Amino acid sequence: MPERNYPCEFCDTDLPLEEKRVTLTMRREGRWYIFENVPARVCRRCGHRYYNGPLLLELEKMISDQIDQARPVEAWAFSLPITE
Ligand SMILES: [Zn+2]
Repeated sequence: MPERNYPCEFCDTDLPLEEKRVTLTMRREGRWYIFENVPARVCRRCGHRYYNGPLLLELEKMISDQIDQARPVEAWAFSLPITE
């Protein structure tokens, strides 16, 4: 049997993950944090993003230690009603 490589754990694509820079949002204690130009490997089929674990820890550290280096942005949030 030929060995098959599954680059994405969510779909069975054969396409290799694409190295990209993406915008990542995190919510911590009710506040949103936006990280731009974050390196990620993105599935070309389903779009799932894979991040480097140590990098995510770095981002968490930026929230706690380097918040003075972030610029504030305005945002508008909508919550759609849940009807079920
Ligand atoms: Zn996928």
